[in-house]
Amino acid sequence: LKVREVLEAKGSKVVTIEADATLRSALSRICEDRVGGLLVLNRAGKLDGIITERDIMRQVHQRADLEQVKVADVMTKTVKVASPDADIEEVEYAMTEGRFRHMPVLDGDEIVGVISIGDMVKANLREVKSHMEHLIDYLAVPLVD
Ligand code: AMP
Repeated sequence: LKVREVLEAKGSKVVTIEADATLRSALSRICEDRVGGLLVLNRAGKLDGIITERDIMRQVHQRADLEQVKVADVMTKTVKVASPDADIEEVEYAMTEGRFRHMPVLDGDEIVGVISIGDMVKANLREVKSHMEHLIDYLAVPLVD
């Protein structure tokens, strides 16, 4: 199964924010758009970083002032990305190794979507179900002599 197929099933919507926005607006966007993380884009629309609910949670724990701290101060700058042609096993491996749950998908330097660990669980379930249906069909073929 390819990253491209997972994206086709979930759509290419990405929720983004600018690096000079405050943590308060990042949190509002995460809650309103019901996502776990935001891609941080620079003025040219290119990927600059990623900020997730976990990054904000850490700041809340440290009693940071969400109105003052900027996304740029908290985001992860070295983002692991996937290509649409990658196998989802590669993404699963990178997420498990790196302990993160979001992976931007880039075609060249163009952002074409984000895959979350939940999208991959869904994709894997669909695949297992489809394999089972094929096997059941195969076993149910009446024998003709
Ligand atoms: P998450 O599990 O996605 O909420 O992220 C856990 C931590 O990893 C946070 O500090 C994120 O900023 C960071 N992170 C999330 N996705 C990625 C990614 N694709 N590449 C690098 N770091 C990431």
